[in-house]
Amino acid sequence: FLPHLVAAMEGVEETYIMIKPDGVQRGLVGEIISRFEKKGFLLKGLKLFQCPKELAEEHYKDLKDKSFYPKLIDYITSGPVVCMAWEGVGVVASSRKLIGATNPLQAEPGTIRGDLAVQTGRNVVHGSDSPENGHREIDLWFKVSELCQWVPAQAPWLME
Ligand code: UDP
Ligand code: MG
Repeated sequence: FLPHLVAAMEGVEETYIMIKPDGVQRGLVGEIISRFEKKGFLLKGLKLFQCPKELAEEHYKDLKDKSFYPKLIDYITSGPVVCMAWEGVGVVASSRKLIGATNPLQAEPGTIRGDLAVQTGRNVVHGSDSPENGHREIDLWFKVSELCQWVPAQAPWLME
């Protein structure tokens, strides 16, 4: 059935999380996926992907007037990324907390950026900043056929 019907359920959101090329090159894929997995969110889509320039530009279109935009597009297209769609109650804001501040030097220890990165221009992971952008970005990066609707065996042990 339509994936977005699920997102219409009360409090349930979806977010687009992406391990950027530095995270892939540095061998942090398992570590980063593991943090979302252990938290208890539901993985709906996952792929390794070489991002074309046009897609990077569409994804970051709100930043196109920023001075760092050309370097940002080069960075995101510089090697494979890991694209993920995660679902859960409050998943958008909670994922941003797990990821930490944009500048890794200001990100709290215990966050992905706080533990694993040092520079804004190499901050290893992306997370959608609103439920609306969660939908928009999952639509942008995934085909509907690449998303799975499923109930994990641990579901009754995560949610009462
Ligand atoms: N970025 C950068 N320099 C800056 C601000 C942002 O290179 O001064 C990059 C960085 O990779 C960041 C991305 O642009 O993650 C998107 O910026 P945004 O403000 O949306 O930060 P995020 O939502 O990723 O924390
Ligand atoms: Mg952002």
